[in-house]
Amino acid sequence: MSKPFKLETLCVQAGWSPKKGEPRVLPIYQSTTFKYDTSEQMARLFDLEDSGYFYTRLQNPTNDAVAAKIAALEGGVAAMLTSSGQAANFYALFNICQAGDHFVCSSAIYGGTFNLFGVTMKKLGIDVTFVNPDDSEETIGAAFRPNTKALFGETISNPSLDVLDIEKFARIAHSHGVPLIVDNTFPTPINCRPFEWGADIVVHSTTKYMDGHATSVGGAVVDSGKFDWEANAEKFPGLCTPDESYHGLTYTRSFGPLAYITKATAQLMRDLGSIQSPMNAFLLNMGLETLHLRMPQHCRNAQRIAEYLSGHEKVAWVNYCGLPDNKYYELARKYMPNGSCGVISFGLKGGREVSIRFMDALKLAAIVTHVADARTCVLHPASHTHRQLSDEQLLEAGVRPDLIRFSVGIENADDLIDDIRQALES
Ligand code: PLP
Repeated sequence: MSKPFKLETLCVQAGWSPKKGEPRVLPIYQSTTFKYDTSEQMARLFDLEDSGYFYTRLQNPTNDAVAAKIAALEGGVAAMLTSSGQAANFYALFNICQAGDHFVCSSAIYGGTFNLFGVTMKKLGIDVTFVNPDDSEETIGAAFRPNTKALFGETISNPSLDVLDIEKFARIAHSHGVPLIVDNTFPTPINCRPFEWGADIVVHSTTKYMDGHATSVGGAVVDSGKFDWEANAEKFPGLCTPDESYHGLTYTRSFGPLAYITKATAQLMRDLGSIQSPMNAFLLNMGLETLHLRMPQHCRNAQRIAEYLSGHEKVAWVNYCGLPDNKYYELARKYMPNGSCGVISFGLKGGREVSIRFMDALKLAAIVTHVADARTCVLHPASHTHRQLSDEQLLEAGVRPDLIRFSVGIENADDLIDDIRQALES
């Protein structure tokens, strides 16, 4: 779809433009495999000399249409859907890191990502240094080593809700010749497009706002196509030297700005799988069609609730970057002038036990592991998602033991506030 279209139009129409007599709605290509007329045609696909579908573990037309929509929304050149956000984060890094390599990562990230990077990827020989994202460029820069291959951060961290200074992170990454990878799950491209601020790769847990209805786990990796891999060729041999598993083809030479995403698809998906199912991609597309309508309502409701909680005598603290006294208010205004996301966090006077009793008393807001859903939901990370982290790691990730993560849905804000009021009083 051509450039001038606005986000709202892209949400509804990008990725799927049916031709004469084709279905108006993106079809689910529920097929593992695709037919060719000659053996030669098929061979050319395996040599990456022709583009086309052959096996859904690598690519599927439903997935590709949805990936194209997400790429258009982010302003990237191409995207790849994955089976989960975890897979997206893993692929985004594993595409350019191998055993013996290292990357630098903001410590304010989702607990599952923290585990993936700090424990599982270490077992593969890929080392990570976690840095405080609010530290100076010099301090963060000191974490880089000759074998560092990327810098990673979350636009709005889950659950600490820190706002990433994307331009600062991009400067640090680029001055060390590596790409900045940003997990843009919470604001979505409706509220922030990290490529416009210098990020090179964007990842998503599409499980969250993009799907928005809590039906499908999924992820996406989006390539801006802007990072100059060849200028730092010695750091990225996987992209800039021949791939023996593709008859000596060199991704940067054969695919130019599509080198990174082509390698991720042709090599990592081929070898590791983790494709999103076409059915889930179809459901994700339905979610994307209303993303531009849902995000502003999430933000409006969250703002109202954050303000209500701030004025309540039983509330010890509220963390939402839309509140003027928030540490990240100015950064949020810069990077997300139309609103950030619907997730807020707060603690109650009386601490951890009181917080848990409050959650049990809520009626509209459901206790679920999920976040960023059309329905309001609530979680106590220290007891749930982050229970594998030590107290020290919890604090490093910005998670207080009494922190309640409140994911504000798109219901009526008055009803949600009534529910909170009765739970606080009970
Ligand atoms: N990134 C962020 C910011 C998340 O919040 C999550 C999950 O909560 C993930 C990645 C992982 O995504 P998934 O649960 O789809 O694997």
